[in-house]
This record gives sequence, structure tokens and C-alpha cells, in this order.
Amino acid sequence: MENCLFCKIIQGDIPSAKVYEDEYCFAFRDINPQAPTHILLVPKMHVANIGEACTLPAKVQTALFAAIEKIAAAEKLENGFRVVSNCGKDACQSVNHLHLHILGGKQMSESMS
Ligand code: AMP
Repeated sequence: MENCLFCKIIQGDIPSAKVYEDEYCFAFRDINPQAPTHILLVPKMHVANIGEACTLPAKVQTALFAAIEKIAAAEKLENGFRVVSNCGKDACQSVNHLHLHILGGKQMSESMS
């Protein structure tokens, strides 16, 4: 997708701190971390947000969930982690390429809003 920040990161046109890559997914450290571990996991195929995730091929959906597990293990998040995906204006989504925030490395609050 032209003019998509995360498509450019996936293609290597914009640098990132990559932590994981496979055929379908790419993950990198958030530039403005909100936890000791804050990783963005994205499908290489462009869709705008999690509200469109069902349009991704099943193998891509499966790869995303498998990647969460691999990243959590690699980052030693054995005490737990949180996965967040902001969708649309009310959720303050700022980049219109589906991304899962993987947050961990500290005790988080019970509040999610
Ligand atoms: P959201 O607000 O849910 O759309 O999340 C977008 C995230 O992308 C934010 O947490 C930003 O800090 C992060 N971000 C923006 N630009 C970059 C970048 N160049 N490299 C890494 N993370 C970025």
C-alpha cells in the first residue's frame, strides 16, 4: 500500500528495530514504548485494522497468532503480556495498517481504557 508507514517498514524503506519476521508477519519495537517490552506485530499484507482482519487469508491469521506466542517466548514474557489493537478514531488508531501491540515486562493495571 502506497504511503503506508508500516508497509514501508516491512519493505525496509524505513528503518525499524525488527524482532521477528516470517512469510506473513513482521514485528518491530514501538518507537514510543509504553511498557518495558512494547512490540508491534503486523501482517505483511495490508489491511487497515483489526476490523478488517477477517479479510486476511486464514494462513495469515494463524501466522499472527503463532507469532504472538513466539515473540512472547523470545522476549521472556513468562509472567504474562497484553495484546492490544486500536481500531478507528474512538480507539485512537494512528497508523492505518493492522497492528497488534504486544506489551509486557511489568505489572499492568486492571484498567484497559
Ligand atoms: P496506534 O496508535 O494503535 O495506531 O499505534 C501506532 C503505534 O505506532 C504507536 O504506538 C507509535 O508509537 C508507533 N510508531 C509510529 N511510528 C513508528 C515507527 N517509525 N517505528 C516504530 N513504531 C512507530
